[in-house]
Amino acid sequence: MTDAFDHDALRELVPLYAIGALTGPERAAVESHLAECAECAAELRAYAPVGMALAQAAPQIDPPASLRTAVLAATRGERAQARAPIRLAPWLAAAAMLVITAGLAVSVAVLQRRVQFLEGELRDALARVDDGERRVTVALRAAAAAEAPLAVLTAPDVRRIDLAGQPVAPAASARAFWSRSRGLVITASNLPALPAGRIYQLWFVTAQAPISAGLLTPDNRGGLTTTLSTPADIPNPVALAVTLEPEGGRPAPTGDKYLVGVAN
Ligand SMILES: [Zn+2]
Repeated sequence: MTDAFDHDALRELVPLYAIGALTGPERAAVESHLAECAECAAELRAYAPVGMALAQAAPQIDPPASLRTAVLAATRGERAQARAPIRLAPWLAAAAMLVITAGLAVSVAVLQRRVQFLEGELRDALARVDDGERRVTVALRAAAAAEAPLAVLTAPDVRRIDLAGQPVAPAASARAFWSRSRGLVITASNLPALPAGRIYQLWFVTAQAPISAGLLTPDNRGGLTTTLSTPADIPNPVALAVTLEPEGGRPAPTGDKYLVGVAN
């Protein structure tokens, strides 16, 4: 009795048998299978030129142990990729090529199945790479987000500016750390809840004109900690200010001042 698994496993050994590389129980198993399996017998006939070529090329040399690995690697290209490179003697490489060529002639259907299998594997692998890249991107973004405030706080040119609540928000307060080269970190507390359609906007107040430093959205307790990248080429600010502006911000302040701090 020969089941499908035996047939598949034994058919893989036919090229080895053809070039005389099998010994002992494997050789016996292939031989008895060949006697009852027409498909494998046909495959063996297709390898006959290979066996002859090999016999002529190297009649005295017993197939070394690596032959089995080499030929199996050549006929199972997909699995061979994961293996360490095998150094083939030139005649052996030629024989392996002949094995492959003969195999191509008789088992196009087998190869087509393998190609389909490999295409599926490739799709899966690409999906995994995709997923991996997405995770790396997310991780890098998280790392950058965690690093940005630290970079500002440790900048050699960092300056601290404390902001005080103004008459519309006397309880509010904030502290900013600004580095011309690395950006700005601001923490604020007790800011009044934003009215609908409004947002807080932070300004560099310069001798010329206020320059927007970014938008601020407090949490539901009126607090926030935000890191902003700011233009490096602004004139030296004389103060920082926070105003209430229409959503999206404005190019110049239009609303009430909520926080103001003088830059030393
Ligand atoms: Zn068979």
